[in-house]
Amino acid sequence: MKRISIKKICVSLIAIGLTQYTFANVEQFEAVPGEYVVKLKNDVKSLTDLNLEKFATQGVRVISEENNTILVKREFLEKTQFALTALNNQPEIEYAEPNYIYRTNRLPDDPELSKLWGLVNKGNALAGVDIGAEQAWDIQTGSKKVIVAVIDTGVDYTLSDLSPNMWTNDAELNGEAGKDDDGNGYIDDVYGYDFANTDSDPIDDHGHGSHCSGTIGAKGNDGKGLVGVAWNVRIMALKFLTKSGSGSLEGALKSIDYASKMGANIMSNSWGGGSHSQALEDAIKRASDAGALFVAAAGNHSGDNDAKPTYPATYDVENVVSVAAIDNNGRLAGFSCYGQKTVDVAAPGVGILSSTPGGYKSWSGTSMATPHVSGIAALLLSEFPEMTHKEIKERLIATAKPLSQLRVKTVAGGVANAYYALLNEPAPKDPNDPYYWASKEYKLETAHPYLGSTSKQWVIELDSVSAMALHFKRFDTEKSYDKVTFKDADGNILGIMSGVNDDSFSPVVTGGKMIIQFDSDKSVNKFGFEIDAISYR
Ligand code: CA
Repeated sequence: MKRISIKKICVSLIAIGLTQYTFANVEQFEAVPGEYVVKLKNDVKSLTDLNLEKFATQGVRVISEENNTILVKREFLEKTQFALTALNNQPEIEYAEPNYIYRTNRLPDDPELSKLWGLVNKGNALAGVDIGAEQAWDIQTGSKKVIVAVIDTGVDYTLSDLSPNMWTNDAELNGEAGKDDDGNGYIDDVYGYDFANTDSDPIDDHGHGSHCSGTIGAKGNDGKGLVGVAWNVRIMALKFLTKSGSGSLEGALKSIDYASKMGANIMSNSWGGGSHSQALEDAIKRASDAGALFVAAAGNHSGDNDAKPTYPATYDVENVVSVAAIDNNGRLAGFSCYGQKTVDVAAPGVGILSSTPGGYKSWSGTSMATPHVSGIAALLLSEFPEMTHKEIKERLIATAKPLSQLRVKTVAGGVANAYYALLNEPAPKDPNDPYYWASKEYKLETAHPYLGSTSKQWVIELDSVSAMALHFKRFDTEKSYDKVTFKDADGNILGIMSGVNDDSFSPVVTGGKMIIQFDSDKSVNKFGFEIDAISYR
């Protein structure tokens, strides 16, 4: 191996400022000021032999010795883009990235809203909108052979719902205190590790990781508390998000690599942020090579991930399953990101009750949808231990329960379903989806672009039908400001549409009469809409 002189690296890293750099118009993402994740080229000598303290102006930490990845601290006042350009220009460096900050994908919610409707929905809003857990449990309730790493704010392993289903590192559990008994580089890592505070105790001081863990695998059939999707499983606690719910790229990388090394079958990731990170993508690829499924929250900013990726959910690695959130009426949650090509499947994510150190709480977010899918994957692996992550991902998509609104919003066009996944059968179509009804051509459109300050109403009637819905070939209005309101014959509001909704249906109206009202404000006039058909039955 070629030996790189540490002196040469020092000089080249410090010698910046003489060259004129042109800065691309880069969107700013949250990152730890002055910190950079640096991947050294593989021909750089082993990091242990480098005098790392001299490597940069303010210090260096090793992120992964095996992967030649380090964290470099530089002047806080230095412009991020300037530092990155300077670092990336060094011959010894494969790439350098900001130490991005990631946050939990949770929203606060009303604690009274629901009781585990995501698992079994028998009349909470639209009955049957759930993951089919009740039927699935007749087939499989989970196995202690399956390890799910919850990469999050930690896990309260003292909770009675969670303690029976914690993963333990038995070499450390039965080993000597203060000693790295299994030689994995971490001392006393019994339940996992806390990369946020750099200690061996991944207890949850926030609540988010415990909430996600409860959905995946709160102990079932024990007469107390809640039940998770998998009654039996082993949860590995990897904490990199602090008690405030945020954490850095550095901690994410260490968590993923720990999970890969320690044999996690599934990694559940209810967090996101940052721009594209090659280091994070590489870590997910290593997880994929280790055979682990990487389930990730699609994001909570209502965006189209096809147009603008959300990380880590949108990394194009074969083990990544990106999860959107639905409510208990079977509609995509207003906050949920989506993507016909990039968001794989949806799951319950509004008003989800689960365990936290402060008691049971009902929270919302793609954070809460993600562990439902991780739990289903755990059931699948319990039933079919030989399934690969690629097969699990394909199965989750192929057996999702179709939902009209998700057809153009997710790859699967539906909600992940534990029962049909275990059966390996396609879930039945939704008979209430106008997509499967008869249809006739019908033309109605706004001006393109539409005019400002419009307020216009149309009445659409069809004889001898029991229900109908309008099909929008194109729909593009200024989100939240310019909208179409749908009403029934009596003027009751059926729903409101705004933003981009190409190739989609209006709400369904009972009977053959629908009133649609279009309102625009004074600013930003987009395409408007083009109706090309009515579906009816
Ligand atoms: Ca150890």
